[in-house]
Amino acid sequence: MVEPGPSVQGPALVRGVTWSPDGPALSLSTDDGDSRLALGPGLWLRFRAGAGADVPSRYCLGYSVVNGPEDAVHHGCPAHQAAERGFQCGACFARDDFRFMHDFHRSGIGPAGLKAYLAQPHWLYVATFADGTVKVGTASQRSKWSRLAEQGAIVARYVAHARDGSVVRVLEDAVSAGLGLTQFVRGTAKFAALLQPRPGAELEAANAAAAGTVRDFLGTAGVDGFEPVSASLVARAAAAVRAAARLSRRRIGPPATDVPAAVPAAVPVPPGPGTLAVLSMHTTLQPATDKHSRETREC
Ligand SMILES: [Zn+2]
Repeated sequence: MVEPGPSVQGPALVRGVTWSPDGPALSLSTDDGDSRLALGPGLWLRFRAGAGADVPSRYCLGYSVVNGPEDAVHHGCPAHQAAERGFQCGACFARDDFRFMHDFHRSGIGPAGLKAYLAQPHWLYVATFADGTVKVGTASQRSKWSRLAEQGAIVARYVAHARDGSVVRVLEDAVSAGLGLTQFVRGTAKFAALLQPRPGAELEAANAAAAGTVRDFLGTAGVDGFEPVSASLVARAAAAVRAAARLSRRRIGPPATDVPAAVPAAVPVPPGPGTLAVLSMHTTLQPATDKHSRETREC
């Protein structure tokens, strides 16, 4: 008999997995406000996704007000609308301070709180996913550790420490334009890659090579306001993303080599951002066993 783990009462909107010094947690929006469900190693999450004629495929996840480098407040969608653009309805997109973030280095336009957020030091990183896909990305000083963990890469290295959020995005755009590295990898591609991972040594070598290429390129980019990072940061970043990869494997089941070839296609996809999931009664976190693995795939 397996004892039930922590649960969340009532329907909830899934906002995604967030990381803190205490580990990963499923971030949820409920009628009582935002909450988090801790995701410990070896635990399984059970849920029932909302369905019906009046249930959209994804709900709006609301908007954020940025008050400064350490302070952003999330608000749920006031009208409980369906998502129209990404994970937001049109009204919440218009209210979201973060909508200015990806164009601020070109336009200089943004609310005061977001400008204060972007004034903090930022980091440029190169991440390699389980299938060998490489991306370039940025992280603020505040989210330096959690950003890499949330990406779900197998190996990652910081390659530059930038004066602020504008400089780091100029560097990111230069790397994408000059070397062809993508800035975005879809979550579904990341999960699919974890079912057919390349050897760890191969991914490590690929990431080291890509990071070296990017560092060499940045030295010729003619951009002021950044410096290369130290080797110690590389080791810490790699440890963070390896921990994320181990958790991701547990969330979606054993490696494909452990199960019949036809089974991976039947693995239920975890609820994505905006999904309405009924978490009471059907959702408990329980120790993983072979029996539970089969039940999870087949339900
Ligand atoms: Zn909304």
